[in-house]
Amino acid sequence: MIDPFGREISYLRVSVTDRCDFRCVYCMAENMTFLPKKDILTLEELDQLCTAFVGKGVRKLRITGGEPLVRRDVMSLFRNLGRHLETGALDELTLTTNGSQLTRFADELAAIGVKRVNVSLDTIDPDKFERITRWGKLDKVMAGLDAAQRAGIHVKINAVALKGVNEEEISDMVGWCGQRGYDLCLIETMPLGDIDGDRTDQYLPLSLVRARLGQRWTLDDTDYKTGGPARYTVVRETGHRLGFITPMTHNFCESCNRVRLTCTGTLYMCLGQEDAADLRAPLRADPSGMELDRAIDEAIGRKPKGHDFVIDRRRSAPAVGRHMSVTGG
Ligand code: SAM
Ligand code: SF4
Repeated sequence: MIDPFGREISYLRVSVTDRCDFRCVYCMAENMTFLPKKDILTLEELDQLCTAFVGKGVRKLRITGGEPLVRRDVMSLFRNLGRHLETGALDELTLTTNGSQLTRFADELAAIGVKRVNVSLDTIDPDKFERITRWGKLDKVMAGLDAAQRAGIHVKINAVALKGVNEEEISDMVGWCGQRGYDLCLIETMPLGDIDGDRTDQYLPLSLVRARLGQRWTLDDTDYKTGGPARYTVVRETGHRLGFITPMTHNFCESCNRVRLTCTGTLYMCLGQEDAADLRAPLRADPSGMELDRAIDEAIGRKPKGHDFVIDRRRSAPAVGRHMSVTGG
C-alpha cells in the first residue's frame, strides 16, 4: 500500500477496546462515556480486518487501546494473529499496555511470539503514580514488568512528560531504565479528547527536558529509526536508547508508515486529523472481502500529508475531539 505522498504503509495499530482500568489525567476524564458494546467489533472481526491488512502488505501489528489486556478473551485474538508470524507474513506482533495485567499474560504472549512490549509508565513514585493514573497501582505494574522480563519479552517504557508532575523525575527514570535494561521514550502531551483539566497546564516541551537531561547524561544522537515519530539518542552512561516524540514542536509526518484502526472498525489515516474510513460496513456486507479491499485502498489514497496539532490557550476545545484511547496510542 503506497499513499499519495509515496509513503509505504506497513504498520497497523489496532485499538481493541476504548475501555481501561486506569484514568490517566492526560488521556481520559474520570467519568468517561465509553462506546456502546453493540458498536464494538468481535475479536473474530478484528482478526479478519487485521488479516486483510497483512494480506495487503502490513508487516507490523500493534495491539493497543484503551487497555488492550482488559478486553475479555483478548488472548484469542493474539493467538489467531500469531499465525501470521508463523507463516512469515508478519514481522512483528506487539502491544502497548499500561502493564497492569502483564503478570497474567506475559508468558502466553511470549509463547505466541510477542518479543517486545511498550509499557506506559510516567513515574516510579507510587503516590505520584496514583495521582497520574487515578486508579492504578504501581506495584502491580512493577510485577508486570518483572513477569515480562522473566518471559523474555523486551520492554520499552513510554513516559509522557508532564509539567510540574514528573518533570523533576525524568532524569532519574533515565537511570532506572538503564539499570533495568529498558529503552525509554518520552512523549509530549497531545490535544486529543476532553479531559477534566486544562492541557496547557500539562504541556512540557521536550526541547526543555532534553536540555536539562544533558546536564547529567551524555546523549549521543543516532540515526536509529523505527519508521515512527521518535528521534533517538543513546545515553552514553547506560548504553540504552532514549527517544523523544515531539508532535508539538516537530513535524514527524514525512516518514509516517502507519494507519490506525479502532475497535468499531473505523480507520484513521492520521492520529491528528478527523478524516476516517468505515471498514465495518464493507467487512460485514461482503464475505468475499472484495469490498473491504476496495475500502482500504480508497482510504490509503486519502492519507493526509501531516497533522496540525496546536495547544492553544484561546481555544477551549481539543484539536482532535476523540481520545487517544479510541484511536489507539
Ligand atoms: N493503555 C495503554 C497504555 O497506556 O499504554 C495503551 C493505550 S494508551 C492511549 C497509549 C499511549 O498513549 C500511552 O503511552 C499514553 O501515555 C499515551 N497518551 C494517551 N493520551 C495522550 C495524550 N493526550 N498525549 C500524549 N500521549 C497520550
Ligand atoms: Fe488507560 Fe493508557 Fe489512557 Fe492511561 S494512557 S487512561 S492506561 S488508555
